[in-house]
Amino acid sequence: MIPANDLRRQFELHASEYEEKAVQVLRSGWYILGNEVKAFEQEFAAYTGAKHCVGLASGLDALILAFRLLNIGEGDEVIVCANAYIACVMGITVNGAAPVFVEPDRHDNIDADKIESVITPRTKAILAVHLFGQSCDMDKIMEIARRHDLRVVEDCAQSHGTMWKGKQTGTFGDIGCFSFYPTKNLGGFGDGGCLTTDDDAIAARCRTLRNYGSDRKYHFDEVGMNSRLDEMQAGLLRVKLTHLDEFSEERRRIARRYLDGIRNEHITLPDVRPGVVSTWHQFVIHTAHRDQLKAYLLENGVGSEIHYPIPPHLSDAYRHLGYHEGDYPITEQAAKEVLSLPMFNGMTEAEIDRVIEVVNGFKA
Ligand SMILES: *Cc1c(COP(=O)(O)O)cnc(C)c1O
Repeated sequence: MIPANDLRRQFELHASEYEEKAVQVLRSGWYILGNEVKAFEQEFAAYTGAKHCVGLASGLDALILAFRLLNIGEGDEVIVCANAYIACVMGITVNGAAPVFVEPDRHDNIDADKIESVITPRTKAILAVHLFGQSCDMDKIMEIARRHDLRVVEDCAQSHGTMWKGKQTGTFGDIGCFSFYPTKNLGGFGDGGCLTTDDDAIAARCRTLRNYGSDRKYHFDEVGMNSRLDEMQAGLLRVKLTHLDEFSEERRRIARRYLDGIRNEHITLPDVRPGVVSTWHQFVIHTAHRDQLKAYLLENGVGSEIHYPIPPHLSDAYRHLGYHEGDYPITEQAAKEVLSLPMFNGMTEAEIDRVIEVVNGFKA
């Protein structure tokens, strides 16, 4: 069986380095907000090109804090792609703001040409979600934001290291939000996340908010959260960060093999936006025969995943927003057509060959 993802492979590529770091953190006697977090924040900021990085407990917390830090809440609207992961929408609604959905383009990310038509006097921000290791069109998004005086938050949970015209995602908008959930391209060995920004005041307030609103012991400036990246995750992420570029290169190689090798009239291959250097968080194909293809792959020992089967506007969690089937037809069709093929670090050549062979043998 070739799984859709196998996290052990990635661990095994550098197992002794992680084991050494884990023992070092265990023996340090310091487990929250110590030197590992400080060092990781500096190293990740330097890697992305952002001025500040603030370690947090998850990607969802980064999104929740991002809108709070921009003072976006009750009565405000945030524009987001309709085919987003549900956490993107939760980051908006937890703050009391309303999501305003925009359909994706053929690169599976927000269609920037459709953003201006949904701007209202209540619109405060655009959440640019860089899905599947690609990047949104950040030229158009930043230009629209400047013209309408909107803030821009980037969701980079699937785009660590992804480049838009030579600059990394997470460095265009006011705030970049990252997740280090284990399956992400820079994944930890548990939960984790961070926020990047060039704004000194936003970074300082974020450091306070992640720690109960406290900047000094037992002094509380405002009601905050407990959302801290822990020392173990930070230490292990520091190790993994030194290998992130080689991991991205490996994913690009797998993607090239798929793009060159897969030929099937029923399958549309992913189309990377010109100007993007993708890090291939997922290799997402479209097919009118998705469920049939998924079952056929499984019968032939190839795993796959669906990102995502239910768009947020049709999720039970957002029934109260009053959306209906048919409101976002492109997104709804994608939810029925998308399938993610195996894509993970440590895949063997034989596995890549086998995936191509099985996919090419599919008959609808
Ligand atoms: C994973 C993910 C999140 C949430 O990150 P967590 O660390 O799991 O909270 C948010 N947005 C996108 C696009 C994601 O893929």
